[in-house]
Amino acid sequence: MNNRQLFQQHVAQTSPAPIGLEMVKAAGIYQYDTEGKAYADLISGFSVCNIGHSHPKVIEAVQQQAAAYMHLIVYGEFIQTPQVTYAKMLADLLPASLNSVYFTNSGAEATEGAMKLAKRVTGRSRIISFNNSYHGSTQGALSVMGSEYWRNAFRPLLPDVYHYNYNSQEAIDAIDHNTACVIAETVQAESGINRPAASWIQALRAKCSQTGTLLILDEIQAGFGRTGSLWAFEQYQVVPDIFLLGKALGGGMPLGAFIADKSLMDQFTVNPVLGHITTFGGHPVSCAAGKAALEVLLSEGDIAAIPEKEKVLQQLNHPAIVQVRTAGLWAAIQFSSFEVNHRVIQKCIANGLITDWFLFAPECLRVAPPLITTVQQLEEIAAIINRSIREALD
Ligand code: PLP
Repeated sequence: MNNRQLFQQHVAQTSPAPIGLEMVKAAGIYQYDTEGKAYADLISGFSVCNIGHSHPKVIEAVQQQAAAYMHLIVYGEFIQTPQVTYAKMLADLLPASLNSVYFTNSGAEATEGAMKLAKRVTGRSRIISFNNSYHGSTQGALSVMGSEYWRNAFRPLLPDVYHYNYNSQEAIDAIDHNTACVIAETVQAESGINRPAASWIQALRAKCSQTGTLLILDEIQAGFGRTGSLWAFEQYQVVPDIFLLGKALGGGMPLGAFIADKSLMDQFTVNPVLGHITTFGGHPVSCAAGKAALEVLLSEGDIAAIPEKEKVLQQLNHPAIVQVRTAGLWAAIQFSSFEVNHRVIQKCIANGLITDWFLFAPECLRVAPPLITTVQQLEEIAAIINRSIREALD
């Protein structure tokens, strides 16, 4: 059997039509297939590779930490320098109330931990989340996922969870003294890049504060510069009670985190003790890689240049494009249907661009390249997208 057959036979399949490319190398903004063909990466692992692939400083950090030690003991018992220094670095880059970091293995586990913390802190169970939001695929995270299509086959899920439309007044009105938490993406990713109205997210924050409800903001995909500021919430003058990170957090290694004030987080130490347990969460190699990647992002990522790059994406135009929605170096190019989008995506891949559609917006093509992509490279990418649209549709 060749690798394609082995992939189909022995690697659990979740998609009836996986992209199915086989890559042998990735560096900078490119991935290279078995024939040596280069593809510009417009997915970036859904915001994992914000600094591009295989940065030498991240590789060096991984190698050094792997040689020093990998796994010592379950999370939270020993003092592990990579965890300590990375948690301190994150706390220094966040508002003062986000000072205690619980490292997990993944984004979904960060969501799970945050919801548990909100229930533990408030003594309440009601959770409000949003249609077309994605927070992970485990049972708790699935319960707050904003699509009945994906939830339905797995019921019963968490009780007392209510979904409202993002940017709706109805959601704000629903928050009351029985609500443990509201969980929202600061910028919705899989609905095809939807920003909140500043007045809406500020009202959401205010209602949470009035009712003693914890506001959880998920920047697992939107964080680390993607939207043009290090954290997306900085653009809206709101601060969450619990903040979720993942994806780019590990610099290419598996890592997630939920971050809150120490006074909240400390409640995991009593009633019950060991209120949240993980064997591999905060793996020292992942923390070393993530810290090195964040240092690279801050020194070489040039987040300040993102608005200029965003403009290149906003200039994409063709009669078949219904709308281009952007948030920093992140765009959803909307076509009239999934069928049209699918044809364009196939052409883009053939023309050397890795892209796909959004989970809840299959009519939208994803443009989320590494943040290090230069304006010139973006102009070349935009030209290839335009050519692909013409070849697919004209
Ligand atoms: N939250 C958001 C916004 C995401 O985009 C994702 C993953 O795509 C998750 C949570 C879940 O992260 P993970 O796949 O690491 O469990």
